[in-house]
Amino acid sequence: MNLHEHQAKALLAGYDVRVPRGEPVESVGEAVAAASRLGYPVVVKAQIHAGGRGKAGGVRLARNEAAVREAAEAILGHVLVTKQTGPEGRLVRRLLIEEGVDIARELYVSLIVDRSSGRPMIIASAAGGMDIEEVAIETPEKIQTVLVDPAVGLQPFQARRLAFGLGLKGPAFGNGVSFLLALYRAFDGLDASQVEINPMLVTGDGEVLALDAKLSVDDSALFRQRKVAALRDIREESPLEVEADRHHLNYIKLDGSVGCMVNGAGLAMATMDIVKLAGAEPANFLDVGGGASADQIENAFRILSSDSSVRIVLINIFGGILRCDRLAEGLIAAVRKLGLRLPIVIRMEGTNVEVARRMLADSGMDFTPADGMKDAADKVVAKLRAA
Ligand code: ADP
Ligand code: MG
Repeated sequence: MNLHEHQAKALLAGYDVRVPRGEPVESVGEAVAAASRLGYPVVVKAQIHAGGRGKAGGVRLARNEAAVREAAEAILGHVLVTKQTGPEGRLVRRLLIEEGVDIARELYVSLIVDRSSGRPMIIASAAGGMDIEEVAIETPEKIQTVLVDPAVGLQPFQARRLAFGLGLKGPAFGNGVSFLLALYRAFDGLDASQVEINPMLVTGDGEVLALDAKLSVDDSALFRQRKVAALRDIREESPLEVEADRHHLNYIKLDGSVGCMVNGAGLAMATMDIVKLAGAEPANFLDVGGGASADQIENAFRILSSDSSVRIVLINIFGGILRCDRLAEGLIAAVRKLGLRLPIVIRMEGTNVEVARRMLADSGMDFTPADGMKDAADKVVAKLRAA
């Protein structure tokens, strides 16, 4: 689950990560009031679940009331298009009004879970600010990484090594070390899957602050992160993913045209792989669950077919808990009810598979049976090419 910058900063501050003073607002009037409480200059920042706002005009410095009003009017209620939003952009419904901070240096730090070592990894660079992606590509030697043993957490010597590598000196060194230690505690305590501070700011007085904050929390931990879960802003999420979540379906929208409906996450991954291998692109990851009911099948179908980029549906089901004949019944009912016109390729195995095949064949609907996964993927590609 992703959070807004102002929410991330409030959560991080709870772990003693230093952040500028600021207030979230939803109207121009509130923006002006917040600015006068904070004192000028302030920065007016669009709150959307995407970065790259600065370069797109979504972060503006304001030195007086007229400038705050003008910036808030220009951003709030408008669609902001950044490098990360895609061409459709995002509607800005909220702003963060923040004290304007005196910038001496802009550094970069982030924490992720490194999959190959299975440990939290800190990534830091002295070349922070708005162009970190270019730094990673052109001068990767400017990026340092440190793996953390989760049993003991980030050690002070590791934080000092990072701070030294970032070129911090004098009071900024000690502040940087404290900042990194606090940031790790926040990452750990919030069950985050990612925290990115860009820029990690050094002021003229050697203070170290999170000037920007991106925070993602592991969905599987939300049951024990109630405070975080309550901050969810579903308006920022893909509507189909929200709908799928309501029905307890594991659904992730992707860019291709093959709608996949599969039971079990492992089978779903394997299905996506074989679709790609055959030369097509999956439109989604969808795991209807090992014990999916006919209802779940219908919900899944509705979600798949409301994605306009889906041109064909591939069903790959192992009928264990959900018997194949019940699946076939559910499929036929769902296709009829939804008036679905998409071609459907089905591969299934398991209990009562023969009965199920006959039911599908007798339904008079456009189901193409497949024999094994490879055959299913090849049939999908052949049908796509023929269309
Ligand atoms: P994004 O990464 O979406 O472009 P940031 O929050 O990183 O947004 O802001 C972009 C730039 O704006 C920062 O690199 C920094 O130079 C400046 N900035 C952001 N917040 C402040 C602030 N409170 N005071 C002064 N400058 C700021
Ligand atoms: Mg930033």
